[in-house]
This record gives sequence, C-alpha cells and structure tokens, in this order.
Amino acid sequence: MQTVATTSDSADTVDLGPASGLSCRECGERFALGPIFACEACFGPLEVAYDLPSGDPEELRKRIESGPDNIWRYAPLLPVPADVAGKPNLNPGFTQLVPADNLARELGVTGGLWVKDDSGNPTHSFKDRVVAQAIEAARAFGFTTLSCSSTGNLAGAVGAAAARAGFRSCVFIPHDLEQGKVVMAAVYGGELVGIEGNYDDVNRFCSELIGDPAGEGWGFVNVNLRPYYAEGSKTLAYEICEQLGWRLPDQIVIPIASGSQLTKIDKGLQELIKLGLVEDRPYRIFGAQAEGCSPVSAAFKAGHDVVRPQKPDTIAKSLAIGNPADGPYVLDICRRTGGAVEDVTDAEIVDAIKLLARTEGIFTETAGGTTLGVAKKLIEAGVIDPALTTVVVNTGDGLKTLDAVAPTTGMSAVIRPNLDSFREAGLA
Ligand SMILES: *Cc1c(COP(=O)(O)O)cnc(C)c1O
Ligand SMILES: [Zn+2]
Repeated sequence: MQTVATTSDSADTVDLGPASGLSCRECGERFALGPIFACEACFGPLEVAYDLPSGDPEELRKRIESGPDNIWRYAPLLPVPADVAGKPNLNPGFTQLVPADNLARELGVTGGLWVKDDSGNPTHSFKDRVVAQAIEAARAFGFTTLSCSSTGNLAGAVGAAAARAGFRSCVFIPHDLEQGKVVMAAVYGGELVGIEGNYDDVNRFCSELIGDPAGEGWGFVNVNLRPYYAEGSKTLAYEICEQLGWRLPDQIVIPIASGSQLTKIDKGLQELIKLGLVEDRPYRIFGAQAEGCSPVSAAFKAGHDVVRPQKPDTIAKSLAIGNPADGPYVLDICRRTGGAVEDVTDAEIVDAIKLLARTEGIFTETAGGTTLGVAKKLIEAGVIDPALTTVVVNTGDGLKTLDAVAPTTGMSAVIRPNLDSFREAGLA
C-alpha cells in the first residue's frame, strides 16, 4: 500500500488553499500534502491540517456570506484552491435547513426542530460535498481516473462529478444494491463494477487495487484521497450554524456508516468556535445506526472503546458498513459531548420515512429514516432534550430506495373517470 509520505518539491507546490499538510490523528506526526491516508509511524488515519484565517471574525463572516450559494462560500476553510468556484464541479451544498414545526409538534419538541435536507444536492445525497473536495485533491495530484468503494450514493456522486470535471471514473459497489442507486451510478457513463460481497469486501478489494499496478494513478476518493474527501462533511456544520444565524444547535442527530461525516461535523463546529464565528456553548452529538448494522451503537451501549465488526443485514444499505473506520472517533465525540449512539429496526426506519414525508413533505431514503427513527427514539427516552434546539441531518433521497416503502404505500383507490365512481370510493 502507498502509505509512505514524501517531502518532495512537487508536494510543496501543491495548492490546496489553507491546507498546510496532513497530520496523524493518533500520534500527531506531520506529512506533506499527498495521496496518502495512513501514518508511516503508527498506521493511524491522516487528516488535513490548516493555516486557518486569523483576524476579525466579523470580516470572515461577511466574506463567507458574500460567497456563492454552495459549499465554496467556505473555501477559506477547506482543502481547495482559492479559485475553486471557477472550476468545473457540481457546486453542491447550501441545502435547505427546514424548520420542521409539524414534526416537532408530533414528537413533542418545543425547543425548535430542523431538518438539514441534503437530498437537495446535485446527486441527491450528502456525498456530493465530500466528492467535491476529493476532485480538487485529484486535480492537484495529477490523477485522471477517479474511483471509490461505495454503499451506493458515493458511486453516483463520483460518476457525476467525474463527468462534469472531465475525469475517467471506475467505481465499485456491492452487486445487490437498490435499483435506484445502481441506475444513478451507471447513468453518468463511467465504469460501474458490482462486487460479489458486502461493502466491507468492496473496500478490502479497493485497498488491494491501490497496491497493484492495475490501480496505479487512480484516485480513490474514500481511500487514498480520504483525508481530503472527509473534510467535505465540515460544510454541513458550517451551513447549519450559518443558517441558524451563526449559532450552534444544542443537539444534532447524524447517521453513521464509516463515521466520517459525524466526526467531521464535530471538527467543523470546533473550527467555527475557534474562529469566533459562533459563541462557544456546549452541543451534543447523537449517532444513528440501523439495528441490522449497529457496531458503533453496540460499542457505545456496552461502554467499549473499540468497535467489533458486524455482518450487515438491513434495508439501510447506504449505512451498511460493518467495520466502520471512524467508529472509535465517533464513540469519543458522542461521549465527550454528552450525546449517544442508538439504533432502530428496519420497521422503525420505514415508519420514520413515512413520518417525515407526512409531516414535512420530505421524502428521505432509508438512511434518513434511520436518523429520524433514532431521533424519535431518543426523544421518547428523554435522552434528547425536547426543550433544546435540535437538528436532524437528512443525507439522502427516498427516490433511490423506493422498495423500502413501496409495499406499504399506493393509490387510495382506482376509479372510473366519473363522479359517481369517485363518490362510491368514499373520497368526496
Ligand atoms: C455515506 C452516507 C452516510 C454516512 O457516511 P459516513 O461514512 O458515516 O460518512 C450517510 N447517509 C447516506 C445517505 C450516505 O450515503
Ligand atoms: Zn501516527
């Protein structure tokens, strides 16, 4: 595997804006910017380190507010060149933060409830945010083929972004995904390869491919470009706070697949505090999993620091990672902030999808059903405080997982095209 860091001249000329290098999350060792993801010294995961803007927070806030209506308004806080907004990419982000008053009434939440609706992104999931960062890193490192291991949404996001930005793409998914995800990943014209196995098998295969001549020169957005990719999730934190009027929410509920999104939302909130863009107040982070793939929730409940891998079996396929890379960091964050990790059954996921659709007119995929299902369960258990402000992150679109609700939804009636028939059906 390509894990050895270099400090060659080419690394010094890489322009990824405020990104100053990579640092090991375990031992703190620093490395030059490059397509590497594991520490040479301890094999810990690497993350992007920054020279963040210093100076007047008010000025920075104004600069952000006058930026484009997408994630690039936060370019000064991301590993991307300053002129990123002018490059061909999908310009995701600045999705709606929906005040969910009907849902709040139904759940007995009085302190304010919002849904951050990332189904509004170009390929209808939050993955467009992370791919947009990886594309800039791929450009900077001279890759021409983009790849990934995916639970479905990432494959589509990479396919679309590669098409727009002029990269070749070849992405890998478990062969038994929902039709909506397969079609959306294939339609952009790149190579789409189904692997006979689950996501963890797909991911292992990609790690092998990186070490093989067959994968040479490929940028795997969530493997060798993972440190850059992961930073995209910070934009969810930035947007939520800006849309709340530059204020931290008290409680955020976030789905967990690998756990990357949850850890980077926390990183984003911490940065906003450090930069003086929001007032430093306590916030609590809650993680959501499906019972059929709940390794982090199981570890949280057992009081363990390590996450024992599971074999996934759930309708929430976009969250079906049995061996989540960021699991231990998720546990740290949820414990440190006074949050929790919880899981719900497939039946509760379906109920939550319908609840959100019925109350707020938002059709979420199974991942969003998982997140709202967990939010509901924790509110009912008194773990989430209904008197505080709460944000539920909806990461995907229900059109991609129609099978989850198709058996229990349908037409109210089929009638002949006349009024008698309409009255007979009891619909008048
Ligand atoms: C990928 C994904 C997530 C979370 O992914 P992490 O690996 O935890 O960052 C959540 N929801 C949806 C719909 C996804 O596709
Ligand atoms: Zn290290």
